[in-house]
Amino acid sequence: MKRISRILLTVAMSGTMWTAVAQTSAPAWSPSTLDALRQLQSAALRDDYGYERLAHLADNIGPRPVGSLQASAAVDYVAAELRKLGFDVRLERVRVPRWIRGDDRCELVQYSGQVPGTTQKIVVTALGGLGVSTSRDGITAEVLIVRSLAELAALPRDRVAGKTVLFYGQFDSLMAESGFAFDAYDAAVEPRNNGRSAAEKAGAAAVLVRSVGGAQFRLVHVGATDYFNSAHIPAAAITAEDADLIVLLSSQGPVRLHLVLTSDLHEEVDSYNVIADLRGSEHPEQIVIVSGHLDSWDLGTGALDDGAGVAIALATAHLFHDQKIRPKRTIRIVAWMGEERGLLGARSYGKEHAGEMANHFAAIETDSGAGHAMGIYTTGDRSLGTLFQPVAEILGLSGAGVVREFKDPAPDLMPLYFRGVPAFAPIQDTRKYFDYHHTAADTLDKVNAKELRENIAVVAVLSYALATTSQELPRQQLALPEWLK
Ligand SMILES: [Zn+2]
Repeated sequence: MKRISRILLTVAMSGTMWTAVAQTSAPAWSPSTLDALRQLQSAALRDDYGYERLAHLADNIGPRPVGSLQASAAVDYVAAELRKLGFDVRLERVRVPRWIRGDDRCELVQYSGQVPGTTQKIVVTALGGLGVSTSRDGITAEVLIVRSLAELAALPRDRVAGKTVLFYGQFDSLMAESGFAFDAYDAAVEPRNNGRSAAEKAGAAAVLVRSVGGAQFRLVHVGATDYFNSAHIPAAAITAEDADLIVLLSSQGPVRLHLVLTSDLHEEVDSYNVIADLRGSEHPEQIVIVSGHLDSWDLGTGALDDGAGVAIALATAHLFHDQKIRPKRTIRIVAWMGEERGLLGARSYGKEHAGEMANHFAAIETDSGAGHAMGIYTTGDRSLGTLFQPVAEILGLSGAGVVREFKDPAPDLMPLYFRGVPAFAPIQDTRKYFDYHHTAADTLDKVNAKELRENIAVVAVLSYALATTSQELPRQQLALPEWLK
């Protein structure tokens, strides 16, 4: 505690005072380590290793939904690359469902102004991971539009029974473009997450959600719904334009819609988290996790979500290898499996390693694309930001010197965070991220190679800083939520 307040004080002081105080209290990093961090940063900004690995994951392997052959090929690829870099690699088993998309079809079959004998196509995608489909013939039902779960809950059952409920909440693009992309997402995503079970409870026949995302190119955004699979009605996302059309037509009279969704949920199969260690020289038992998630949705090739995160972790490993860096603590690269289906790999890691959490010094995950890097997000004790000022000064040399607290850890870090592990992520430009997130347009061309290198520089420098600091990081005592037990 004393140490922390002394550092807080020095940051507020002049450069001379900093030197004076730093000499009497052990600095978090020695001058030679700070030099090494600068070298690591400039090496990262020159290195194309990360982009090349991302290109292989996205373009050669392709979409990597859990339980698929591509997800399994990605596990083997990442493990082999890390072995080449001299890391000690093992695969930790995760049981995952195997979901296979079927036909997704939707059309308006009755609406105001309809020309006899015609219908209108609606662009639709089944929400992922459900074992519930329509019959091959589909279902035809009147559409009921609601804006929120609360609005649905307030309706009498006879207004909802047998209808197809359309959740018409809107993603606030202006909010996203102003730099609050995750706030815009959080504000819009609840009907996709929980609308299915709510609609079933209210007696609905099926559920549609307006796509949760920013782009207006008639793109559907897939995603998981009803993570714990408790409901039994089919659910799909339609494009923003189609949802707007249905709302307009509904203001003129009843709209009936024909929906066919034939995805299938098969038996669980084995998949894996890839875990690769570079053993620490002084505290090998203490672990700094550097990670991204290996699975993606099936529509695009998962270049942004989250091939980029895996590539950034791989590139960090490559830089340590290339620069012959031996960290004091163990660097553990993790490629998580099953994030998109409810953090399957991360939850299983949290349970299996629950007894070792005191030795998990810190964890990093990149899972918001590969946009321009601006600094470090910390999630945990408030003093973390102050501790990392010397690192931020170095990252500032390449324009990534911002340190901010973020309310949530990256998704796969939740099982660690709630067990007390401080969480970190690069701060990225996410203004366009939700235009492509979970769509067919999440492809490699959306990644700018220079911006990817900026992110690699942030994560590599932060990893090494965490693996060498002489400071203990403050940890939080949090209650473990039920779903992580
Ligand atoms: Zn992701």
